[in-house]
Amino acid sequence: MGEIRPQPGILDIELYQGGKASVEGVSNVVKLSSNENPFGPSPAAQEAVRRVLHEMHRYPSTDHAALRAAIAEVHGLAFSRIVCGVGSDEIIHFLCQAYAGPGDEVVHTEHGFGMYKISARAAGATPVEVREKERVTDVDALLAACTERTKLVFIANPNNPTGTMIGLAEIERLAEGLPPQAILVLDGAYAEFVEGYDGGARLVDGRDNVVMTRTFSKLYGLGGMRVGWGYGPQEIIDVLNRIRGPFNLSIPALAAAEASIRDIDFVERCRSENTRLRTWLAEALMEHGVPSDTSCANFILARFADRDEAEACDLFLQREGLIVRRVAGYNLPAALRITVGDEASCRRVAHVIGRFKAGER
Ligand SMILES: *Cc1c(COP(=O)(O)O)cnc(C)c1O
Repeated sequence: MGEIRPQPGILDIELYQGGKASVEGVSNVVKLSSNENPFGPSPAAQEAVRRVLHEMHRYPSTDHAALRAAIAEVHGLAFSRIVCGVGSDEIIHFLCQAYAGPGDEVVHTEHGFGMYKISARAAGATPVEVREKERVTDVDALLAACTERTKLVFIANPNNPTGTMIGLAEIERLAEGLPPQAILVLDGAYAEFVEGYDGGARLVDGRDNVVMTRTFSKLYGLGGMRVGWGYGPQEIIDVLNRIRGPFNLSIPALAAAEASIRDIDFVERCRSENTRLRTWLAEALMEHGVPSDTSCANFILARFADRDEAEACDLFLQREGLIVRRVAGYNLPAALRITVGDEASCRRVAHVIGRFKAGER
């Protein structure tokens, strides 16, 4: 085995830690650790999957034309500049594979999404972490970190796990200031939760150095189906399509995503419930002495006194059947990320944190 080695960078990858789904010895748990939609997938998506069950012996579409047409129609985008992937994770991966390699740098923010680092290293490139300003993306710091080796700059807006976002003028300033060989990737996994925000689509239309990624995993409640997409300049989309597996998305995944994006009422209802319950939860936690930044996504980053208190609270919540997310791996050891669940879950989590802060252990 001595001579068999993976490509440089691959052994530097730390395995991705997903949100826990169970607690030993506790039944009836509520999972608030993966930013899933508490209302599940749209009934239209479920019906669409039932309708294609008899087609499972067929290979799926290679060009995803029906889904891309639906995305183009609903969001008012150019059909030919949309590419679909196995989650937006796959689009992130394609971008790194296609545009970054050994000696190149991939810039991301201090508390940025874990996949940027993983995909950068998988491509042999070097991830560069840039500090934020009080848990908010700092455009000046990002621009200062760029060099002639920078190939990709990733920002999630709103960001996970901080929940904060920056405005389009700031994003445009970032795109404008990048070195000529660098692409700005706007990860819009939570864009749907922000009323009136297009995820940066218009910015993509007006420039040649910006790509937007989106997902069906969060607001649309299809995390288990694995569908995401990217929107960018034609030349970049054509490059990504060269490395995309021809059958990367399954028939049920395509059917579910297409039905979901057309189910406008469901999307509206999920967005407004999330906004209402997020505000309620943040205020309830604040009353218990647990502050958070104003979140623009479907989770709250609850801040505790220190790492010990955050971990003790996490264990207390687990014993009560509530699973939230530790974010020490995102350089936030004193915080817990709590997905906005349905009303009952929000009340439960606020109540249990209240008991914890009142001294119960
Ligand atoms: C969840 C998430 C994604 C992607 O999820 P997929 O399921 O792969 O589409 C991308 N970026 C951020 C910031 C996320 O939180």
